[in-house]
Amino acid sequence: MKPAPFTYHDPITAGEAVSLLTKFEDAKVLAGGQSLMPMLNMRFVVPDHVIDLNRIDGIAGIRDGGDTIEIGAMTRQRDLMRNQVIATKAPIIGEALNWVGHFQTRNRGTIGGSLCHLDPAAELPCLMALYDAMLTLHGPSGPRQVPFAEWPLAYMLPSIGPDELLTGVSVPYWEGNTGHGFVEFARRHGDFAIVAVAALLTVDGGKITRAAISIGGADVHPIRLTEAEAALVGAAPNAAAFKAAAENARGIETMSDAYVTSAYRQRLAATLVERALSAAASIANENV
Ligand SMILES: Cc1cc2nc3c(=O)[nH]c(=O)nc-3n(C[C@H](O)[C@H](O)[C@H](O)COP(=O)(O)OP(=O)(O)OC[C@H]3O[C@@H](n4cnc5c(N)ncnc54)[C@H](O)[C@@H]3O)c2cc1C
Repeated sequence: MKPAPFTYHDPITAGEAVSLLTKFEDAKVLAGGQSLMPMLNMRFVVPDHVIDLNRIDGIAGIRDGGDTIEIGAMTRQRDLMRNQVIATKAPIIGEALNWVGHFQTRNRGTIGGSLCHLDPAAELPCLMALYDAMLTLHGPSGPRQVPFAEWPLAYMLPSIGPDELLTGVSVPYWEGNTGHGFVEFARRHGDFAIVAVAALLTVDGGKITRAAISIGGADVHPIRLTEAEAALVGAAPNAAAFKAAAENARGIETMSDAYVTSAYRQRLAATLVERALSAAASIANENV
């Protein structure tokens, strides 16, 4: 099947793209096309106008912002995997991207496209939840910022207006002796996760001083395990502490679908939380 007819626009500035979004009521922006093109082909979406972001300068690239990593929305997933700033300051991002689709989809797919598409099982939203990333949008009244916690409104519905463009993401860098773990269970490699867990642990003097755990695929948007995170702070990074965090994950709200039940997702989340935390602790311990 091929898309229904639409008018194609290829602006060269973000401002021009926003003007087009403001002018046309029924418009969709095209980033890497890895989710939009199938949806157009299957006629799940039938826009009158498609606004291609691929010729716009200044909304792609990765920059070290000191205590943050600044990532343009049009940065390809492949570039995130190969970037030195990411590899040094937030290596979990590059590692987790191995789970996102395939070489071909990562060559085209962008971070902004993944965050706007907001598939419940997508890895990048799970990571942005982990880091409490800040998203920058541009609309007709100028820029505004949205913390990732306020980004998902409902199933595949991000907090973005029809005339707004996501232009960048700011990822706060974790200082100190920080380890990371990313684990995922999917039916086949390259499929969306049934459950994925990302964890960060900072360890100092044999105690956890900071912890973050983000679970993707379990519910309609990523879940932060805030109670378990708070309980980990002050504890020794050992099996007993990680088992307690896993128990906490067993109680989260999960969805069921054609593949697995909600109870299965809860059990899987608990197992993966324990594994992600153990992986994060071994990296942190290696650095001591
Ligand atoms: C075979 C296959 C396997 C895949 N497996 C995975 C997987 O395992 N994990 C995973 O996370 N993803 C997977 N994907 C999806 C892939 O990661 C996509 O790249 C991603 O979901 C969308 O990014 P994109 O740049 O291609 O966006 P597009 O497809 O171009 O756009 C997606 C949506 O976001 C909107 N949008 C895009 N950019 C912006 C912006 N800057 N501002 C406002 N709106 C915007 C578009 O209008 C559209 O609604 C897979 C895709 C394929 C084809």
